Amino acid sequence: MLRKFINRVFKRDDALTAREPAIIPVSSHGVSRDQISSGSRRVCEALRERGYKAYVVGGAVRDLLARVTPKDFDVATDATPDEVRRCLRRSRIVGRRFQIVHAYMGQEVVEITTFRGALGDDAKTDAHGRVLRDNIFGSQAEDAARRDFTVNALYFDPATEQILDYHHGVADLRQKTLRVIGDPRTRYREDPIRMLRAIRLAAKLGLAIDPAARRPIREMAILLENIPAARLSDEIFKLLSSGHAARCLRQLHAEGLHQGTLPLLDVLLRTPESEQFIMLAMADTDARIQQGKSSSPCFLFAALLWRELGIAWQALRETGEHPLPALHRAMNDVLSAQGQKLAITRRIAGDIKEIWALQSRFEHRVGRHPYGVLAHPRFRAAYEFLRLRAKAGEIDAALPAWWLEFQNADSDARNGMLSALAPESAKRRGRRRSRRGGKREKAAANENAAADFVALPENNRESDGAA
Ligand code: ATP
Ligand code: MG
Repeated sequence: MLRKFINRVFKRDDALTAREPAIIPVSSHGVSRDQISSGSRRVCEALRERGYKAYVVGGAVRDLLARVTPKDFDVATDATPDEVRRCLRRSRIVGRRFQIVHAYMGQEVVEITTFRGALGDDAKTDAHGRVLRDNIFGSQAEDAARRDFTVNALYFDPATEQILDYHHGVADLRQKTLRVIGDPRTRYREDPIRMLRAIRLAAKLGLAIDPAARRPIREMAILLENIPAARLSDEIFKLLSSGHAARCLRQLHAEGLHQGTLPLLDVLLRTPESEQFIMLAMADTDARIQQGKSSSPCFLFAALLWRELGIAWQALRETGEHPLPALHRAMNDVLSAQGQKLAITRRIAGDIKEIWALQSRFEHRVGRHPYGVLAHPRFRAAYEFLRLRAKAGEIDAALPAWWLEFQNADSDARNGMLSALAPESAKRRGRRRSRRGGKREKAAANENAAADFVALPENNRESDGAA
């Protein structure tokens, strides 16, 4: 009641945007200028020399305070994009709706954003209140109020090493709380992606989402269905590759957010086998990312949808369809069911299918076949996937062990490994067949390998006896 009254008397934004920031000295926050990238430092210097304000802002300041290595260093300024362009030689304006500038500083690309203004009452929204257009420049205080969480509204000045803190973000970070700036419902309605960002940032930084920000999530999850697929996909990918995917997925499910994002998450986490596989895949990816290795979207999506593929494939086989065509149809069905919502591009879908299809080829270790597998552009990701399946107990660990040895062996050793696998009769037959071409036998062997490889919950088979 009281808040409604206050909001009516003083427009909500007025209370937020008229703020003076707390100025926190380096002696208190401990982040020094040599912790920021040289590119962002030079950008700030160049803008400042021309009389503009320029700060490192957002995620980078937050992460440095939390002793986490920032992903990138963004700069916020009161210079317009055209003015920024004039200060920095190697830079260009990007974006149509809200223009920002990319400055090329050696290897680094620094993103420079002009302070955004407060949303006016006439801001263009969709029927659900999502802001569609928002391209007004404004004051620094307005810019701070437009950011999502208090810990993101922090501005680091490389010249003085002070942090300008508009919404008590430093205190919130110390208390390990993720708090939305302003009224959480209003902010989620303006941009539902913020609910997913809350989950990801809380997981990444080990923060608890403030109850007022957490409470409305369940009922507002449905709003994610109106988000354009490409934007949703971007955020899901960030979440899966955050290094904390396992925690994020669990939290996503706990908050009911999967309904608008990964409708299949319910199905995926329904059976213990599929939950175990996904959680293992995510834990594996998290470990890779925490070691500084990369992770591709195709690997992540291939893992998420693997069990779905198994189920779809079996259903088709039960209708009497041949294993190989059934497999390809199952791949297409699964990818088009989830792919649309997740905006899995055709290229990524192609890569996912290759990872899946290579699983069957790993089993088929005859003749020149393994050399083709080794030379395949998706070999590494597919091999990692094979290891994951072994870890999940789906196949014998001897199979990925064989492939590891095969990768590292010289050509004599490789030939030895292959002939050790082939039984005597097959070797003799193989020699005769290779003289005749043996296309039909090859196709049959491929089909049999395919028929075996997608493990279903009740189909915990052993691999065909490696060295
Ligand atoms: P990370 O880089 O670790 O993914 P980040 O918070 O830096 O996290 P970015 O997407 O790089 O995320 O955004 C930079 C800054 O822009 C954020 O810190 C935040 O202040 C602001 N921001 C990003 N997305 C939103 C949003 N949906 N609503 C409001 N502010 C946002
Ligand atoms: Mg960032």
